[in-house]
Amino acid sequence: MTPIKLAIVGLGKIARDQHLPSLGSSADYTLVAVASPHNRLDGVPNYPDIQTLLREQPAVEAVSICTSPQVRYDIARHALEQDRHVMLEKPPGATLNEVAALVDLAQQRRLALFATWHSREASAVEPAREWLMKRNIRRVQVTWKEDVRVWHPGQAWIWRAGGLGVFDPGINALSIITRILPQPLVLKDAELSFPSNCETPIAAQLQLQGPGGIPVHADFDFLQTGPQSWDIDIETDAGRLLLSKGGSVMHVDGKAVVAEPDREYAKLYERFAPLVRERRIDVDLAAFRLVADAFMCGRRLTVDPFIE
Ligand code: NAP
Repeated sequence: MTPIKLAIVGLGKIARDQHLPSLGSSADYTLVAVASPHNRLDGVPNYPDIQTLLREQPAVEAVSICTSPQVRYDIARHALEQDRHVMLEKPPGATLNEVAALVDLAQQRRLALFATWHSREASAVEPAREWLMKRNIRRVQVTWKEDVRVWHPGQAWIWRAGGLGVFDPGINALSIITRILPQPLVLKDAELSFPSNCETPIAAQLQLQGPGGIPVHADFDFLQTGPQSWDIDIETDAGRLLLSKGGSVMHVDGKAVVAEPDREYAKLYERFAPLVRERRIDVDLAAFRLVADAFMCGRRLTVDPFIE
């Protein structure tokens, strides 16, 4: 099959760390161009914005939007209006209504729209889902604690409204539990800690409830030094499942069951190719809705200012 002619919009950390290597080893795509206000990629034409890119590169069939979330909607809308298929980094927008509007537009124009959740592609997520289907879950503890200074250096957008703060990594955990646990999960209580100089939270505690009253507690923290934690600990009537390292490792009752190398972004691009060819939409907002609910209903604490 002819490779899909794809452009990247937003050449930042994730585009360089994950999107470019995955595209480089995929036969499904040809990277045709990049649009980014400041950054440049050698070997392809570079443009300052999507408008110029699509005007100058009419052969581009699809765009992968790797920007910060606050600018995602206008870029995605423009691409769809110009009849291009769209893949969105997580979170898929800054608001729920932005994403709903993109879904409507993609439907009207019969274009592919893919809201990606890279953590759902982690190696142990599907095995965990299958294991859990045969068991009764008693309780779930999510511990997602990382050092923002290490993982998001200089990313001022994360602290501005719409940047999600600690929910930027936290939504990855929510994307996993909304895949592997019985649904619906609803928010019962939330406490969000905002540094006095930031518009987004640096820590959050969520209490969720699954079917039959399953308690799910999530502890998100952006100030974790030393060992980092991306763990989901699930107690069932027939054993205990621990998903660790962001969903790539699975232990059952202390015994390693899955531990495979990371192919998250390769798998995302494998999913996007048939969506483009069949002009389909894959948008699941379960994790994004939980974050929106936490911002809507969570108690707000003001904590020490964050100085990077
Ligand atoms: P980043 O390093 O700050 O990169 C974002 C890039 O967006 C910037 O380099 C900027 O380009 C570009 N940009 C901003 N406005 C733009 C516009 N109007 N048009 C085109 N490009 C624009 O952030 P990141 O870490 O890559 O994160 C980006 C997204 O990926 C976030 O939603 C994040 O949640 C997600 N993500 C990040 C990671 C990670 O480990 N970092 C992991 C998974 C997912 P210029 O520098 O050229 O101005």
